[in-house]
Amino acid sequence: MLTDMEISRQANVRPIGWIADDFGLGKHLWREAGHAMAKISLEAAREPRRGKLVIVTAVTPTPHGEGKTVTTIGLTQGLHLLGHKACACIRQPSLGPVFGVKGGAAGGGYAQVVPMEVMNLHMTGDIHAVTSAHNLAAAAIDARLFHETRLGPDAFSAKTGLQALNIDPERILWRRVLDHNDRSLRQIELGLGDNNGPVHGGGFDITAASELMAILALCENIADMRARIGRVILAMSRDGNPISADDLGVAGAMTAIMRDAIEPTLMQTLSGAPCLVHAGPFANIAHGNSSIIADRVALAHHDYVVTEGGFGSDMGFEKFCNIKSRASGIAPSAAVLVVTLRALKANSGVDGDDSERLEAGFANLHWHMQNVMGYGLPLVVAINRFPDDSMAELAWLKERCLAEGAFGCEISDAFSHGAEGARALAIAVARACDAPSNFEYLYDDQMDFGARLMTLAERYGAAGVSLSEDARRDLAMITQLGMDKLPLCIAKTPLSISHDPALKGAPSGFELPVVGLRLSAGAGFITVLTGKVMTMPGLGLLPGYLNIDINDKGDIIGLG
Ligand code: ADP
Ligand code: MG
Repeated sequence: MLTDMEISRQANVRPIGWIADDFGLGKHLWREAGHAMAKISLEAAREPRRGKLVIVTAVTPTPHGEGKTVTTIGLTQGLHLLGHKACACIRQPSLGPVFGVKGGAAGGGYAQVVPMEVMNLHMTGDIHAVTSAHNLAAAAIDARLFHETRLGPDAFSAKTGLQALNIDPERILWRRVLDHNDRSLRQIELGLGDNNGPVHGGGFDITAASELMAILALCENIADMRARIGRVILAMSRDGNPISADDLGVAGAMTAIMRDAIEPTLMQTLSGAPCLVHAGPFANIAHGNSSIIADRVALAHHDYVVTEGGFGSDMGFEKFCNIKSRASGIAPSAAVLVVTLRALKANSGVDGDDSERLEAGFANLHWHMQNVMGYGLPLVVAINRFPDDSMAELAWLKERCLAEGAFGCEISDAFSHGAEGARALAIAVARACDAPSNFEYLYDDQMDFGARLMTLAERYGAAGVSLSEDARRDLAMITQLGMDKLPLCIAKTPLSISHDPALKGAPSGFELPVVGLRLSAGAGFITVLTGKVMTMPGLGLLPGYLNIDINDKGDIIGLG
């Protein structure tokens, strides 16, 4: 089979105007942006919702990914093939994974967004805008600290007419961001050298972990984005009060940098079905879903909209339900759970033969099925077939899923056969969307922090929760600010349902350790840090960038 890159290069990429016409967008609602892409005006979200929203999730993945994006794109192509108006909504790929171990995030095989290299590298620059807006605030807080320290609060106020903020250099909460895997920047010293301000610690996170990325994905319009950015807490003052982006007077400029990023980017799948690519929060450290704005635009113009939550259903799907859906009020109609034989075997935690490993690994799939169905959604399991998979194992798995109460279960061949390979899955998903659903959140807004945390922890299989000293202090501050009722965004490893990557299958009886809380007052959630959480990945021994080059014609090669 051809590589993803070769398939994308040979694709019949249609002029983006044709895709916009099929979408139903008048010329005033979109503008061309780069190669085969268009930015969509937010006005396109004004019409009422007409379509059904399908959320694609997965079992606990291996580090390579189990094919949610492949299935999201393949399913959209399959629905399109059946004659439905269907659109995919996915996140913009981060350059971290593109040049790291995982590779691109435009799908794969014959289920791709094209041109894949355009989507995987910069696209329309939204991530850079987030990086720039984020770092403007970081520069602004350090500059303010520098000037107030140099002049003293009274002289500062007299000279500027601004109130001194009295920033505590030890409690600057706003780190810097960069869209690369760069472990050497995790912890840094700032203000070194002559007369560069008080020396203090800091560090970089990957842009996908920026609160601004979450805001981009959760806001409804430019005014909402401006208000949310204004609420972001950058630092604490020496007397213990939060200092927001509005307090610093930088929120307007940050929003100005992100003005174009708020518009979703229209691209196309290999079969010519539309795909809106927008925002890119990671699911382990942020809420892991593409934007509410893109969903609204797509739902106003399509019968079916297929979107993806990052990692397993304990991560992006849980946050889709409890954070994104709660913010938008848009309930999904059905869920698709992607599983691979490879992931089941990897999740088994045993060394036996294939059938023993499959049987043991099924515990993980079973947990994810129960988790998804627990939200009241009709569930279709999609077995993402890899070229070397055994037919007997695939048939065994399909039977098991149906026996365990899935509404449907189909083998998806979208990777190898595109739309045609997803036909059976598309039929099953369309049926599931017509089945009765009773979507509900896992916890109630009004429950107190401890009860909400315990509800989530119990769902993961924990017997209890422990809060570190730091976490208790953070909670006291959040409570004092009256923000303790915000939804929770659990930051944890994606490689286990628990906080511990070594616990395979469906672990239970463990204690979930909470080491700290971060208030995201702008995004509107509380990030709960469990164990060691990676907010800035590093490059491995053989990173993806080694394969990437450009030929004499200017074509990018080696992107996978
Ligand atoms: P996820 O969205 O779940 O992280 P992706 O859809 O991005 O996963 O797929 C991860 C990687 O696996 C991609 O490189 C993709 O091309 C590859 N892949 C996915 N499904 C298949 C398949 N059925 N056969 C071969 N490779 C696949
Ligand atoms: Mg994906």
